[in-house]
Amino acid sequence: MSNNTNIVFESYPMIGGDGSNSYTKNSYLQRAGANAVKAIIDDVISEKLDVEKKISSSKSAFRIADLGCSVGPNTFIAMQNIIDAVQQKYQSQGFASHMPEFQVFFNDHTSNDFNTLFASLPPERPYFATGVPGSFHGRLFPDFSLDFVHSSFALQWLSKVLEELLSKNSAAWNKGRVHYASAPDEVAQAYTVQFAKDITTFLDGRAKELVVGGLMVLNMPGIPNGNPHSSSVTGLSFDILGHCLVDMAKEGLISEVQVDSFNVPIYVASPKEMTQLVERNGCFSIERMEITQPRARDDGLNSQAVTMHLRASMEGIISKHFGTEIIDELCDRYCKKHEEFIDLLESKYNEGNQLFIVLKRI
Ligand code: SAH
Repeated sequence: MSNNTNIVFESYPMIGGDGSNSYTKNSYLQRAGANAVKAIIDDVISEKLDVEKKISSSKSAFRIADLGCSVGPNTFIAMQNIIDAVQQKYQSQGFASHMPEFQVFFNDHTSNDFNTLFASLPPERPYFATGVPGSFHGRLFPDFSLDFVHSSFALQWLSKVLEELLSKNSAAWNKGRVHYASAPDEVAQAYTVQFAKDITTFLDGRAKELVVGGLMVLNMPGIPNGNPHSSSVTGLSFDILGHCLVDMAKEGLISEVQVDSFNVPIYVASPKEMTQLVERNGCFSIERMEITQPRARDDGLNSQAVTMHLRASMEGIISKHFGTEIIDELCDRYCKKHEEFIDLLESKYNEGNQLFIVLKRI
């Protein structure tokens, strides 16, 4: 996959196992995001799933893929919810006697801790479980073999960040920052271009793999149309990370060059951008496209918990670039800096920070 002009982010998985820093123990923000859309997914399945077509066209299992599943437990909750809603639909339509078997494909990069995932599969699950290693930017399944695709908090990860962010001679050189949120337009543009390429290959693959009439539910960080990149919660969070790293460089704990050459490969899309990309692909109708507001905790943001969450999902990529020895210090600083920005972050949460999309293969 790698070539000379791109840095490919294939091998920086979420923290595996089930220790105190693991993704398993620190993924409540993604869980809150999934909970925020559970009722809408139930409605969509109830309204849009064509049960009669499935019954008449195929005797095979109802096949669901979770793309970017990580190590659990969120993926298990999401898959159970989808199956509950599909079963409910069969029952309410009078097709209980045609209830299909279910097969769930758990997909993530090959570097994902699939052992932890498999070891923690719910013992009483109503589905056959299958692991599918590899990037969802390429093909993963045979033609027309999936009935339902789900992906939560994975599509924001770019497959690569362009070299131009690293070159002193480029207008998109991202000096002194680790993300595009507060950067000059040229930097944001490089991210936007890469995101568009990634979503294009993602949609091309799924268009081949989903049956006609199949549904695809996508959930990811999002930003309302027209808002500046700098106002996204995700962008602000990476600005805070950037401030901490710049401070550490000033104190000589890491080098300036290391900070300048580090760019978090995460993009926050607006409904407008995604609509354009889906329309350009042409194989899907847009059934839902909205910005939602997940609330992780009723008592507001908690900097300590947010820091643990950042660590569980970003430790791999940060330690690969800067070394594992900086992680504890960086997390201490991040937590303190996060406290300073907490009122601003709270207000941005309220504007909505999650993009929820339902597509149907036409
Ligand atoms: N869906 C889970 C995990 C989200 S973390 C949840 O909601 O909790 C994001 C996951 O996406 C990570 O495990 C990461 O490895 C995976 N991911 C990112 N890019 C990917 C790609 N191109 N192909 C497959 N998985 C990818």
